[in-house]
Amino acid sequence: MYSVFVDEYAIRSTLYVFMATKRDYYDVLGVQRSASKEELKKAYRKLARQYHPDVNKEDDASERFKEINEAYEVLSDDNKRTIYDQYGHAGMSNGGAGFSGFEGFGSVADIFEEFFGAGFGSGGGRRRRQGPRRGSDLRYDLRISFEEAVFGVEKDVSITRPEICGECNGTGAEPGTSPERCNACNGSGEVRRVQQSILGSFVNVTTCPNCQGTGEMITKPCQTCNGRKQIQNTRTIKVKIPAGVDNDTQIRLTGEGGPGVNGGPPGNLYVVIYVKKHDFFQRRGDDIFLDLQINVAQAALGDEVVVPTIDGEEKLTITPGTQSGTVFRLRGKGVPRLDRSGRGAHVGRGDQHVIIQVAIPQHLTEQQKKLFQDLSRTLGKEVVPQQKGFLDQLKDTLGDVFGR
Ligand SMILES: [Zn+2]
Ligand SMILES: [Zn+2]
Repeated sequence: MYSVFVDEYAIRSTLYVFMATKRDYYDVLGVQRSASKEELKKAYRKLARQYHPDVNKEDDASERFKEINEAYEVLSDDNKRTIYDQYGHAGMSNGGAGFSGFEGFGSVADIFEEFFGAGFGSGGGRRRRQGPRRGSDLRYDLRISFEEAVFGVEKDVSITRPEICGECNGTGAEPGTSPERCNACNGSGEVRRVQQSILGSFVNVTTCPNCQGTGEMITKPCQTCNGRKQIQNTRTIKVKIPAGVDNDTQIRLTGEGGPGVNGGPPGNLYVVIYVKKHDFFQRRGDDIFLDLQINVAQAALGDEVVVPTIDGEEKLTITPGTQSGTVFRLRGKGVPRLDRSGRGAHVGRGDQHVIIQVAIPQHLTEQQKKLFQDLSRTLGKEVVPQQKGFLDQLKDTLGDVFGR
């Protein structure tokens, strides 16, 4: 709903009519005759809010509202107030001595706007007959495996979405019939109602309740969609998931969302990726991490081992004297790096990091026990406090990945 000023003349004539049996302007605003401009303004503001016909639904609210506006209009103007103080209402009604008439009354609107803003009493912006509107966006959560996220995959997703009813082509009218012009609004989609007030005639424009602003009435609703113009359809849609996607990656399928209204374009479908956890690989960005356990002998003497990567098995050389927390890097064995353009292009691959854990045997055979005892005699009994613990060491090695 919104309001427009129609006729300034209406203001004047209304004013004259009300001049006959009037309350004192000061009484109307509830202020002393000595009230300052500020006090007047305050009183007016309070009362006008209280009695605005859009807010106050009591019968005499609009009368009071007129009265308040009028009183303020006079008392807030130094000249008019002087005349009023001298001659009372008589000085006003006949254009009294030196009173320059009511030209100034056009400014009521300005005052009103200044106080309440142009939108006061309106329920928001103007709602005209509905134009084209874009369809709604839809979301689909898709779970894929770790490998599918790394290498990409094509998936069929089945979504149920609103579509334009094919039976009536989205008119909502039974085939063979067509919508008729709404006779409540003559097809305009809006209803105008003229309201009189001290500020003049307002035209309140609201969306036609009969046709909800479409301007059309359906006499025989389409049986397929019950006149709703849309139906829910389940569709299977192919979604191409590029290599390198991760949790929360959104894939936009343009135009696969809800249908547009009144010829507007359809919305989009957003497929949101959720990646299942892998049994032993962990992912951070484009890098993959693997915890690898080796035994004491492998750590001390070095070894050549085989480790899994997402491309298959790879040889890895454990250097002699490898500590727990040592990280070996397999370059280019990580996740394809998605180009930031979002077009699914790739710029290289991340790495795989193999984090070594040296396993200390918990159960020894007699023979192993004897070997460790022999070893022990050669190593001595000294213990050395460490400056850096295991975690610090890991951070040192992986600083570029974890961020220091
Ligand atoms: Zn239909
Ligand atoms: Zn209508």
